[in-house]
Amino acid sequence: MSFVSRSGRGLPLLAATILGVLAGDAFAARISRLTPPSELFASGEESPVIARFLPGQRFDLQMTIEPDPGRTIVSFDFIVDDQSTLRPFWVDGELIHDPRATLTSTVTETGPAATCIAASGRTTGASGCKLVAGLPGNATVISRRAYSNSRAGVHTLRAIARQDDGSTISATGNFEIVGIDAESGQVAKNIVIFLGDGMGAAHRTAARIISRGYAQGKAKGLLAMDTFPNTGMVMTASLNSIVTDSAPGMQNYVTGNKANNNEEGVWPDDTRDAFDNPRYEYLSEYLHNLQGKSLGVVTTADVFDATPASMAIHTSARGNGTGIVDQFFDDRDQTGLTVLLGGGRKWFLPNPSDSTSPQPVNGSQRRKSNDYVLGDDIVNGWGVARGVLDPERDLIAEFRDAGFRYAADKTGLDAAFGAGTPDKLLGLFSYSNMNVAYDKIAGRRGDSTVVDAFGFPDQPMLDEMTDAALKVLSKNPNGFVALIEGSSIDKQAHLMDTDRWTLEVIELDRAIAVAKRFAERNPDTLVLVTADHECSGAAIIGAATVSAATLEADPDAGKGVVGTYEAARFPKYTMAEDGYPQTTHIDGKMLIGYGANADRYETWLPNRFPTRDTQQPFPPSQSPANPSVRNESSGYLITGQVPGDQATHTATDIPLSAYGRGAHHFNGVFDNTDVFFKIGQIAIGGAD
Ligand SMILES: [Zn+2]
Repeated sequence: MSFVSRSGRGLPLLAATILGVLAGDAFAARISRLTPPSELFASGEESPVIARFLPGQRFDLQMTIEPDPGRTIVSFDFIVDDQSTLRPFWVDGELIHDPRATLTSTVTETGPAATCIAASGRTTGASGCKLVAGLPGNATVISRRAYSNSRAGVHTLRAIARQDDGSTISATGNFEIVGIDAESGQVAKNIVIFLGDGMGAAHRTAARIISRGYAQGKAKGLLAMDTFPNTGMVMTASLNSIVTDSAPGMQNYVTGNKANNNEEGVWPDDTRDAFDNPRYEYLSEYLHNLQGKSLGVVTTADVFDATPASMAIHTSARGNGTGIVDQFFDDRDQTGLTVLLGGGRKWFLPNPSDSTSPQPVNGSQRRKSNDYVLGDDIVNGWGVARGVLDPERDLIAEFRDAGFRYAADKTGLDAAFGAGTPDKLLGLFSYSNMNVAYDKIAGRRGDSTVVDAFGFPDQPMLDEMTDAALKVLSKNPNGFVALIEGSSIDKQAHLMDTDRWTLEVIELDRAIAVAKRFAERNPDTLVLVTADHECSGAAIIGAATVSAATLEADPDAGKGVVGTYEAARFPKYTMAEDGYPQTTHIDGKMLIGYGANADRYETWLPNRFPTRDTQQPFPPSQSPANPSVRNESSGYLITGQVPGDQATHTATDIPLSAYGRGAHHFNGVFDNTDVFFKIGQIAIGGAD
């Protein structure tokens, strides 16, 4: 076969492949994947530009090559706007990219390493190849790690590889560097992002109805988030679906790029290793490197959960808890991690035997199988920790040795401030996800049955965690980036447990009020309140036409008691001193329907115990397994339209509200990745 050169676009590729087959030739060489993802590579269309970056934000370049049968790749390059990215060298003190040195697998003195990974079973390839599992036969993956570009505009990326018969294969994509308008007024030093997981418009409305009340058509008060002066609507799609999960739903905001579902801080690739995917830099890493900002992560979930991990962690498998919490610690010098508060102690406690069966008595779920070890290319390219498979690690002890004060409960959190505000703070208040506000508040009011059953009766509320985090983070004169997540709005909406998720929104809003007061005192602060996606298709369908006692007496009354339109009137809840309703079990209770629902038995009554949380190492036996068996003997069966036993996320746009410096940038309808570039402008160039 003679010299061939083709683009990686779908149609020409298909044509080339068919031609090869017709000619009786096994010819199939192609670049099957080019990263960063681009519509130019996928379809030949130059827009939309999918991958966008702030100036200097680092990201990986990668190609997967399927050479002709029996052929190997001997040299390669990634060429941006006609310049090689692989062979920079110095001439008279100036960094030059040599356009002649485009086809090489060697690494120069000054250049970051480019490595290649060949398919399992191959014994030859470009120099430096290692064998990995998971690739299609005869495939080669080539990465150029931690590339960056500071020139604003759309850039062309051309990947090129040469086979050992001299033929070349190429593909073309694009990416954009989004410029920052310098000296555009005052910058925001502190960035606080409140993420109500799964919090759509209905969730916000429901919390307002309960906590503020309505009279004659008007709300008697506003939520703290309602008082923010600017509100936009966010499109939440991930790289591979209109319906995102929490990983892309969060990381898209803080990387400017789209991830596949279940993936955080990385693009998809063709290998099985969940930690070797092509990466891109987080807001936390970028602003820590550029401005010395700190990172705070506060959540009511297990800290390994998708939302908190999507502030700092690079993995294609959001379930890899051991590796995720290890990376939080190991790469704290990259992210500026200073505060980590939430649940998830099970990942921090040693598990010397690597076992989960029987469950270690200390609750540890550390395992080699979900830990991380990185290759030389990532370690050298990014300057990050290599990682070790070490289920025996005592991570709480390591945090303490590194200067973090540790709190195991609310009492410990208060005590951590006894000798002044600590410089760094770790709080792990339960084995996995923390108890929800509904149960924590019941415990504080004297009914600790549920929190006792989980084993952690003294957990802080999110407003208390937020106050602690802001005190620690604001010690950094360079400012900070903080994520504060109300995570169980989503988890309880999945379970269609209305009484529990409505109180979760109220808990989040009380934390938002804390940050709003902080921003009033510190006007160089931007506070955003948003969600990663809507959850459950929640809708306020009306209110009960009957009393609480009647519902109890007839729990399978079903749709017969749903008052719609004017029959709903205005449900009246009484708020207690602690900021939560005295009870949600009221006469004329607000009723919620679910548009993305699985089967459930509905009683319209509060559920005594939360539904089973499979993340818990020791789940209480009193929890029903799922909504399709919960209240099976007493409730009214509502059949759903989604598979599985939980309600699902939806693709509906969600509201984002902004307060403080730069808030006026957040009006209109925009993509979740746009938020990253707005923050970058406000934090670096100024807010005008
Ligand atoms: Zn979510």
